[in-house]
Amino acid sequence: MADTSSTPTTGLDPVEIGVLGGSGFYAFLDDVTEVTVDTPYGMPSDSVFVGELAGRRVAFLPRHGRGHHLPPHRINYRANLWALRSLGAGRILGPCAVGGLRPEYGPGTLVVPDQLVDRTTGRVQTFYDGLPRQDGRTPKVVHVSCADPYCPDGRAVALSAARASNWEAVDGGTLVVVEGPRFSTRAESRWYSAQGWSVIGMTGHPEAVLARELGLCYTSLALVTDLDAGVETGEGVTHEEVLSVFAQNVDRLRTVLFDVVKALPVARDCICSHALDGLETGLDL
Ligand SMILES: [Zn+2]
Repeated sequence: MADTSSTPTTGLDPVEIGVLGGSGFYAFLDDVTEVTVDTPYGMPSDSVFVGELAGRRVAFLPRHGRGHHLPPHRINYRANLWALRSLGAGRILGPCAVGGLRPEYGPGTLVVPDQLVDRTTGRVQTFYDGLPRQDGRTPKVVHVSCADPYCPDGRAVALSAARASNWEAVDGGTLVVVEGPRFSTRAESRWYSAQGWSVIGMTGHPEAVLARELGLCYTSLALVTDLDAGVETGEGVTHEEVLSVFAQNVDRLRTVLFDVVKALPVARDCICSHALDGLETGLDL
């Protein structure tokens, strides 16, 4: 890794793509600069690591912080999205570990969801709450469409990048996001499964909808690390199982992420980029 000394955000070339994920990604960027970003919503999970990959400017933010000290319900999602946007990112990639809600979605399955269900409690999930921010600005109360919460262009690139590396990713499906940090009971898990939902995670919401509220493109790459409690027949999910499967697949996932970064179109003309058209947000977007 190159120089990682902290620098102010001024003077940096704008980035195109933001990645919210586990550690192990930014070490492969060229000319990495560690940037401390403050936001009107407080501090993000960690420093942002800015560098280049195949000529694309990329900002990486470890969503759980270095050393994974932040559980999903304590992540400052607004600060994370705002920080990446403030560095110039128009596209966000959100790799995440999930549980499979169908027997055929076993460990190692990659799902590129096209729908989201929020089963969290108590997370701040909007920028448009009408409350004054730290910088004195007050956002309006507006309602942004999240009917299709993921970027169609980003999804298409993710699926083709996975297939190009012989990983037959699942095209579409519903990611249900729960509060955690505990895993589901069997009854909860069976209920999610019975709804026809595909995978279950703890960070996909409000990440995706906050990205949409800023007019950013968000693409989820959900790596199944275990079958959820209602689907498997053993003792239930353990944290060790999740970490073990994730470690086995992390190189593969990183390769796909690199290929996605290289292949994402530079120009944006999708539903996400037009999400705020005609809306008076009260924010400097
Ligand atoms: Zn988009």
